[in-house]
Amino acid sequence: MNDAARALFDLSGTVTLVTGGNGGIGQGIADGLADAGASVVIAARNEDKTAAAVAAIESRGGTALGVACDVNVRADLEAAVSRCESEYGRLDILVNNAGVARGGPAETIAEEDWQLVIDTNLSSLLWASQVAYPHLKASGRGKVINIASEYSLFGSPRAIAYSSSKGGVVQLTKSLAVGWAEAGIQVNAIVPGWITTDMTAPAKNNETFYDGIIYRTPAGRFGEPDELAGAGVFLASHASDFVTGVVLPVDGGYAAG
Ligand code: NDP
Repeated sequence: MNDAARALFDLSGTVTLVTGGNGGIGQGIADGLADAGASVVIAARNEDKTAAAVAAIESRGGTALGVACDVNVRADLEAAVSRCESEYGRLDILVNNAGVARGGPAETIAEEDWQLVIDTNLSSLLWASQVAYPHLKASGRGKVINIASEYSLFGSPRAIAYSSSKGGVVQLTKSLAVGWAEAGIQVNAIVPGWITTDMTAPAKNNETFYDGIIYRTPAGRFGEPDELAGAGVFLASHASDFVTGVVLPVDGGYAAG
């Protein structure tokens, strides 16, 4: 690879904030961004998981720190962004990854489950983006990467709140992309297929459900968290400077089928 190609994807000198980056998909993306040279701030609730994720990045030669953050608490989001500035002097890339899956079908879902899922999976992405906005604008290479879902594209009778929240992530992404293009901030979404994480462990352990997913996925398998790293680096780097408002599946062909 020559210097020009390397410069396209090089994240040296940039600072990334990854919500929920202490496990699963968020950690896979955080590792990839750190490998590409970004300093990574992991913002999540479970401090043991966060410490382990920071240690994992450091053990592969990267730079990272963790901040305790509940994405549903605006003061926590503000503190996480402030930490990026106080530790590293900037914030260039926001990865809105934290998410939960709970509740059930429309007939029975409880109001509190609906509200928690909408708050965590949709509203918090707006509030984190809003808090980060002046820093991303000042960066001159600001990027927001939102984690959507196949259920952003397809309905789910089993998870009405989850699919509704993730559908909203696509429109939030497009609206932010259009609104913030002039500020030089690109806003895109990744649609992961079925990825092996804590969230999908119950599906993986349910043989009938699992077989249905494998049958429905052209690649014939689950993806792994580190398989999101390439899309993350692309959407965080200069390689995507004219790419905004895009919803990018990383799903073994699921959305194409
Ligand atoms: P995990 O359960 O492994 O990770 C979810 C992460 O979100 C955890 O690190 C958790 O951190 C964090 N989180 C949840 N609630 C909060 C909160 N209120 N404040 C801060 N952090 C929070 O699942 P995945 O890695 O699978 O999920 C990551 C994202 O990917 C989610 O948005 C999910 O919807 C999405 N996704 C996952 C797919 C899959 O197949 N796995 C497919 C499509 C989308 P902590 O434990 O510290 O609270």
